[in-house]
Amino acid sequence: MKCEIISVGTELLLGQIANTDAKFISEKLSSLGIDVYFHTNVGDNAERLKECLRIASNRSELIILTGGLGPTMDDLTKETAADFFGIPLVEDVNTKLKIEEYFQKSNREITSNNYKQALFPVGSKILPNANGTAPGCIFEKDNKKIIILPGPPSELIPMFDNHVYPYLKMFSKEIIISKVLKIFGLGESKVETMVHDILMSENPTVAPLISDGFVTLRITAKSSDSKSAKEMISKTESSIRDILGEYIFGTDTDTIEFVVLNLLKNKKLTLATAESCTGGLLSEKITNIPGASEVFKFGAVTYSNEAKEKILGVSKNTIDRYGAVSEETAREMAINVRNISSTDYGISITGIAGPDGGTSEKPVGLVYIGLSYKDELYIKKIISSGNRQKVRLNSVMNAMDMLRRHMLGLKIDY
Ligand code: ATP
Repeated sequence: MKCEIISVGTELLLGQIANTDAKFISEKLSSLGIDVYFHTNVGDNAERLKECLRIASNRSELIILTGGLGPTMDDLTKETAADFFGIPLVEDVNTKLKIEEYFQKSNREITSNNYKQALFPVGSKILPNANGTAPGCIFEKDNKKIIILPGPPSELIPMFDNHVYPYLKMFSKEIIISKVLKIFGLGESKVETMVHDILMSENPTVAPLISDGFVTLRITAKSSDSKSAKEMISKTESSIRDILGEYIFGTDTDTIEFVVLNLLKNKKLTLATAESCTGGLLSEKITNIPGASEVFKFGAVTYSNEAKEKILGVSKNTIDRYGAVSEETAREMAINVRNISSTDYGISITGIAGPDGGTSEKPVGLVYIGLSYKDELYIKKIISSGNRQKVRLNSVMNAMDMLRRHMLGLKIDY
């Protein structure tokens, strides 16, 4: 079944809001094996909406409209769609009563325009709205299915999950399941080259994507039932893991900080951080995860040389001789922060986030990361490209990946 989504709302065209409704619906339809070929945004204008419906009805069997179901003049989706498909509107008594009840309960006076939310194209299946006053509806015309949903995601999402998904499931013969593998430490092109043959597969498909500081591979399988789709995914996943295993830090919604924190918890290990150019970003990421207090004991942001000396006890001689951005300073920061806080791990980050402060010897993006554990000490030197935010994020990602690798007994690339 070919589908398209028309999102109605001038605020979408003005860039005031992003079309998260279309994103949500598309993901759900994809899991049902329904092909979404077009997303259209149109303002609150009847003529332009009709133009969109004209195009959509010539090329799609399922048209989903979102937004414009409110009581005001500019909410015209249902009326315009009914008019376009030549179906009269009738009042639904139940909906009318519910609207009256809603206003009574909230002690507000009902105005006549509220009653337009009780009007639906004749023959519609009405979709109750548990979180607002505007129900959605489904109607059919000339073998086309038209679904109209409210704009606010808090209303649209439950309505879709509870009523639209089960309705569409009846028509879908295939199901689609995806799994995302998250990779750190290899660039997109390197990943592509390494799993080139697997990327050629048609079912499951494997698509690489660059994300915030890491690479993802999305495996998507189509099948008649979820068991076989999951089996197909798991087979492809293990082929990818055979090649990229140690670089895969997580799947689906995992973040690297979540993975690291859980490893620390499971291994009953504790952590302290000493940051310079990342200004606390590493400790912020770690403490964002609930339960961080079990493993995260101390975080110092030592931005100046004096702070590195006074708080962490880095020797003045080291800083004078090698500079604050150096392997030697990173080493002392990591060892000292671990000693100060009596933790298992000490991690340090010192570098030049830019845009200023770089020299030919020490360019912007140069960062040293130190990891101290018992009598082991690892220093990783990285040179990140990109702006200040990218340099800082990449440093933090690298620091967390060093920790992950150490806890898993993998080689720390330095
Ligand atoms: P209401 O009954 O609240 O008026 P509605 O169905 O008429 O709902 P709109 O008036 O079009 O919906 O939009 C109301 C709000 O819903 C918008 O201001 C916006 O916050 C949110 N919204 C609308 N469309 C979208 C969309 N496509 N994606 C994300 N949010 C949306």
